[in-house]
Amino acid sequence: MQMLDVLIIGAGPSGSICSTLLHTANINVLVVEKQIFPRFSIGESLLPQSMSFLENAGMIQAVDDGCFQHKNGAVFKYKKQHSEFNFEEKFSPGPGTTYQVKRADFDKRLADCAESKGVSIRYQHEVISIEKDGDNSIVTIKDEKGDDYKISTRFILDASGFGRVLPRLLDLEKQSNFPQRNSLFCHIEDNIQAVDYDREKILISIHPENTEVWYWLIPFSDGTASLGIVAKPDFFESYSGTKEDIFQQCISEEPSLKRLLNNAKFPNPVNTIKGYSADVESLYGDNFALLGNAGEFLDPVFSSGVTIAFKSAQLAADILIKKHKGNDVCWKTEYAIPLKKGVDTFKVFVEAWYDGRLQDVIFFEKTDSSVRRMICSILAGYAWDENNPYVNKTERRLNVLAEICKS
Ligand code: FAD
Repeated sequence: MQMLDVLIIGAGPSGSICSTLLHTANINVLVVEKQIFPRFSIGESLLPQSMSFLENAGMIQAVDDGCFQHKNGAVFKYKKQHSEFNFEEKFSPGPGTTYQVKRADFDKRLADCAESKGVSIRYQHEVISIEKDGDNSIVTIKDEKGDDYKISTRFILDASGFGRVLPRLLDLEKQSNFPQRNSLFCHIEDNIQAVDYDREKILISIHPENTEVWYWLIPFSDGTASLGIVAKPDFFESYSGTKEDIFQQCISEEPSLKRLLNNAKFPNPVNTIKGYSADVESLYGDNFALLGNAGEFLDPVFSSGVTIAFKSAQLAADILIKKHKGNDVCWKTEYAIPLKKGVDTFKVFVEAWYDGRLQDVIFFEKTDSSVRRMICSILAGYAWDENNPYVNKTERRLNVLAEICKS
């Protein structure tokens, strides 16, 4: 039976970056990925903070070479209100721009880059069960021919995203505090001609009659775009017809999107994801840790998923490298607590978005410019920068700010 130091489940962003960091530190790591790349994944708008993790792993060139759509900010729209954040004006140091990416291509680039640095990735190999064997785990994997084989590993990193392999197998699933929300989305040919439209920014617009319902428009560099809508299930249930009919009706109800997309073509079927929020009892345990979406997933509104996936990969790699060098490590203080710091910052922002406090802040025109730069920092992914007062006491400061913006 093959013996490993670390087995990583999944070759998405967290698996690719983590395996590269571990392999570079001479740790015996293997990635098993159940699909064959390129494959579709949702999560196409990156945040500037994510670039520093790519840089650190020596993977930035692979992404820069991808000719992806440059991204420098976000635009929010609600009825006649419009608010623009330029990420280069953020409070925190670090990259101020990033990309909007078709994930099929982006994830393949990262995985190929990992392989080019020496990482082994086995595609169409699916982890199906795990059992303890003393200090090691025996993992059963189904290969591309449907045959099972076993691997012994000292440590498992679950980077399986919405596959949530270890949460399911080890009974770690916990109900998310967020209510169920669903999403309808597809790739379109946007044909946008409006001169005031900025392809370098994600557009988040809010339904005119229901401020809990929002849309994303993520343009790509080839004239196509990702278009999506997020709402609670009862909102979608009030429409009839096919997914495509419901999608079109929802788009036509948001006047600025309707105008922007009046020449758009919709050649692709509409996809749906239901109840995407997820949580776990613990992010780590006896010889395992959960990366990215395999741990907690909040909500897509601030495009934080890939950044959190990268941050988790970086923290986990740092700990395993430290351990490999013979040092004691503590997954609670070196992984779960620091990771949660930024996740909790985003969590407060997501809650405040849906109850309206953050929308008041975003559309308030007279916000002090230094405060706006601090909010901008978090929207750019710098949710772990404890020098930012809105990271340190997020809830309290946001409440004060929302009161000012409301009055
Ligand atoms: P993934 O990218 O999901 O990769 C996991 C991999 O594991 C997959 O390739 C899968 O095939 C493999 N796998 C699964 N099970 C097994 C198994 N048993 N054995 C082997 N391999 C397995 N994030 C952003 O940053 N920006 C956005 O704009 C954004 N928009 C989103 C919109 C919606 C509607 C949703 C729901 C999410 C969005 N996200 C966004 C979040 C983003 O999709 C995820 O956070 C991100 O993909 C997580 O990366 P990951 O590496 O954890 O997992």
